[in-house]
Amino acid sequence: MSDSLSNLNPVTARRAIRVLRPDSPDQAVSLARQFSASYTAGGTWLQPTHERDQCWPETLVALNSSWPGFRGLDAGPNGLTVGALTSLAELARQALIRDYLPPLAMFLNRVAGPGVRTLGTVGGNLIVGGDLSALAMALDVRVDVINHTGERALPFSRWLRERASDDLLRGFTIPDCRGWRISLEKLGYRERFSPTRATLACVHDGDRVRLAVSGEGGLLRLVATETFVNDRADLASGDVGAVIDRELAAHGWQDAHLRMALRRMTTELLSEVALGT
Ligand SMILES: Cc1cc2nc3c(=O)[nH]c(=O)nc-3n(C[C@H](O)[C@H](O)[C@H](O)COP(=O)(O)OP(=O)(O)OC[C@H]3O[C@@H](n4cnc5c(N)ncnc54)[C@H](O)[C@@H]3O)c2cc1C
Repeated sequence: MSDSLSNLNPVTARRAIRVLRPDSPDQAVSLARQFSASYTAGGTWLQPTHERDQCWPETLVALNSSWPGFRGLDAGPNGLTVGALTSLAELARQALIRDYLPPLAMFLNRVAGPGVRTLGTVGGNLIVGGDLSALAMALDVRVDVINHTGERALPFSRWLRERASDDLLRGFTIPDCRGWRISLEKLGYRERFSPTRATLACVHDGDRVRLAVSGEGGLLRLVATETFVNDRADLASGDVGAVIDRELAAHGWQDAHLRMALRRMTTELLSEVALGT
């Protein structure tokens, strides 16, 4: 393990953050516990968050993309496994993404700007509730997590409920979704580099529709809306608007204008997956 530590930063007059560089995932977990420290991957989320809050940690544990399984894509019998430390830019370039999730390659051009996509990782994006988290939720991905008790694989939605502070995400596996119909849409402010307001993912697995949303109101699988849609023959039914509005409001999506926009987005995405466009 190595670490970099200096005293006061001459420009900001702030105490420097101690960044620990473990040699292995297990060592990362034990350092995170020992120092009650967060992991840092690309740092693109942590850095502006600490700046905004004017509150900096004493210690961070830097993750290393050369650890086995932490970076890159691998297609296997259970689906497509993605290393958590794969950058967003790298994900967009991968031919396997065009096979498994054709709309995602283009969509990734709309996730942040090129600088953030180069440094920011897919794991970081999932953890901070970014655009990919809605898709991961709708696809029912399984995450591969390491902590002081060992390793485990579990559904992403369950991990979010049970996540421990030392949980280290190695990667996640997308089910074999080749041939599924998948649509994604996001809504942001006009200003460049501002956060996404809402991202909606709509997946038709050949049998049922799955819907999930991420953004200002949090990450949510739209279970009631899914049930409503799946009980009807007509996927493009306009009646779905009132159902999704109620479901969003019940889960804390307070902004009525945003809910209105999500109603429209849902109807559009349902038409796309119904028509296979
Ligand atoms: C200007 C700007 C614009 C943006 N626009 C968008 C956008 O349009 N759409 C969008 O979806 N996102 C957007 N983002 C968010 C961006 O996608 C995330 O900042 C990025 O993906 C986070 O990845 P990171 O590797 O930099 O995470 P970090 O900043 O390093 O970490 C983020 C959090 O995840 C934890 N973490 C990271 N990796 C792991 C791991 N493997 N295991 C356990 N914990 C981990 C860290 O402890 C921390 O809590 C934007 C960010 C910025 C700064």
